[in-house]
Amino acid sequence: MEALMTVLLLSAAACFIFGLKLMSKPATARKGNLISALGMTMAVLGTGLLIVHDHELAGQELGFGTFLPVILGIALGAVVGIPAAKLVKMTAMPEMVALFNGFGGIASLLVGWAELHGKLQETSPAEWIAEMGHLPSSTIFLAMLIGGVTFTGSLVAFGKLAGYITSKPVLYKGQNFVNGLIVLLMLGGGIWFTMDPGQYWIFLVAAVISLGLGIAVVIPIGGADMPVVISLLNSYSGLAACAAGFAVNNVLLIITGALVGASGIILTNIMCKAMNRSLANVLFSGFGAAEGSTAAGGGKDRGEAKSKSPEDAYYVLEAARSVVFIPGYGMAVAQAQHAVRELAEILEDNGAEVSFAVHPVAGRMPGHMNVLLAEANVSYDKLIGMEDINPIMDTIDVAIVIGANDVVNPAARDEPDCPIYGMPIIEADKARTVFILKRSMASGFAGIENPLFFNDNSYMVFGDAKRTIEAFVAEFKDAAS
Ligand code: NDP
Repeated sequence: MEALMTVLLLSAAACFIFGLKLMSKPATARKGNLISALGMTMAVLGTGLLIVHDHELAGQELGFGTFLPVILGIALGAVVGIPAAKLVKMTAMPEMVALFNGFGGIASLLVGWAELHGKLQETSPAEWIAEMGHLPSSTIFLAMLIGGVTFTGSLVAFGKLAGYITSKPVLYKGQNFVNGLIVLLMLGGGIWFTMDPGQYWIFLVAAVISLGLGIAVVIPIGGADMPVVISLLNSYSGLAACAAGFAVNNVLLIITGALVGASGIILTNIMCKAMNRSLANVLFSGFGAAEGSTAAGGGKDRGEAKSKSPEDAYYVLEAARSVVFIPGYGMAVAQAQHAVRELAEILEDNGAEVSFAVHPVAGRMPGHMNVLLAEANVSYDKLIGMEDINPIMDTIDVAIVIGANDVVNPAARDEPDCPIYGMPIIEADKARTVFILKRSMASGFAGIENPLFFNDNSYMVFGDAKRTIEAFVAEFKDAAS
């Protein structure tokens, strides 16, 4: 049985690593997800055998009660998880990820706490240290600390994204100093507890402070930066699980935690680079105060924005030989991806070369646009990255900006006083004609006015993106019939 348990747990770890690798490419991501789910099934079965093994080793009786917590855990997870995964809207996916991270964090805190409690019942702190050294007590403390910060930090991130809490940074004087002081206190407490795990009170007080710290470090970050924070908290939840794995001596938990921790930090780094900002700037600058509010930069005289009806825009599209779609958050809101694919096919039949330019931070989560386009069966080879489309943008007849705003804002390139100055953009403004499909002149997530709307070659096509695209399709169909 021991051999079977080892095989199951090792295979689970291999599935997680392989699954993660497959998830790095859109074409294999679905398979990667399935393989990871298979790994999780093996992990659960392996854990069941581990419980049997540990009980046999300790000469304890096995009964239904032994497995009851596991069964209840799975049942509760399924009751909450399955409907949540099925019902959640694509646009609310970041909120859901935030909650999942938070639950991962609190789970690690509880695992650390349970381990500490159990050990102090079984043995004296001195014997425990003599037998195991300081690794268990230090990792128990880390699992609690990182887990607690992740839990409440994720809840705040969820609240900000879902609109339950103001998305503006909540700032006060000396905030970074106070947060730094708390971190130092926690470090001191951690060292004391590691040396003497019999100081149960330190663990309990530190657990409460860690929960407060999670709120304190996320509340000063603006809503626009929440996806980066979520990715970072995802990494923290992995680190907390890894620490919990060391605390309970569970290799699978260590491997899984390390994978989540590393992939989360890599993703955080990619997102920061795509916005041309450092992680410190995201965490401490209080950026992103103005979601959906009056646009920053709105004082400049940029002239009048021109608009076209879908009927007029059709004539330009009909004559276009090359068209690039630039999707953004609005495409997700409008759920326009299927209509977009239909229009792309019609344009191709009409002789145009069609591609999709996807910005790494378009939408509200990494890969947001890729997921939507994949759902609509847009072929992966039609997707072009920012660095490949920009050099040839001036050869493109028509750029159709679908509910994207910040990611095509030329102020990020041209106006040093713009809050997102330096963020790489898709240079839609260089195309011969630009159609901007959105409902109004409102700003995007960063709350910044977009000079693209006022360019000579730009035309606003106002309305819900899906309806506008459907109107384009109808024009082509009318002309063909
Ligand atoms: P933006 O948030 O800049 O703009 C979205 C636009 O979509 C809005 O201006 C809105 O205009 C329009 N819109 C909303 N609903 C509809 C609809 N039904 N039909 C048509 N248009 C609609 O989106 P981008 O994708 O350009 O940029 C993403 C932003 O999020 C960036 O600031 C980025 O830094 C930030 N961000 C993203 C991350 C990620 O991982 N993706 C991570 C961190 C930050 P209107 O209301 O007038 O219709």
